[in-house]
Amino acid sequence: MASIFSRIIAGEIPSYKVAEDDKYFAFLDINPVAKGHVLVVPKHEVDYFFDLSNEELGGIMAFAKRVAAAIKASFPCNRVGLSVIGIDVPHAHIHLVPITKGSEINMSNPKLKLESTEFEAIAKLIASNFK
Ligand code: AMP
Repeated sequence: MASIFSRIIAGEIPSYKVAEDDKYFAFLDINPVAKGHVLVVPKHEVDYFFDLSNEELGGIMAFAKRVAAAIKASFPCNRVGLSVIGIDVPHAHIHLVPITKGSEINMSNPKLKLESTEFEAIAKLIASNFK
């Protein structure tokens, strides 16, 4: 069965998309630890991040770099942190979070409760800065 992220990529499940190309897709995490918390996923469904091919690992990092630049241009932060966990969703993905200190990217932190209009505005802002 297709993962929830494959179903998002296919448009079967809605998401707050920020960017995509032919191989990678970026959208807002629905349980964000910060405004601007984005997930970057390969369209090719692979469960474990380090089972991605070397080419895919290089490709997803290059794509994530562009998304990180868009997040950094959208939200005040020192830098954009990166985390790979993959315990909850068996489809390789990178968490990108704007941070000023390391503890802000801890996925055990309380999640923000945002209205759909806020998610939409955040996704639109990041998408507008994506190059
Ligand atoms: P993990 O697999 O541990 O890296 O966590 C999966 C992440 O995916 C969590 O931060 C969830 O909030 C996020 N997530 C799960 N389902 C969705 C969804 N439908 N849209 C956006 N984010 C999701």
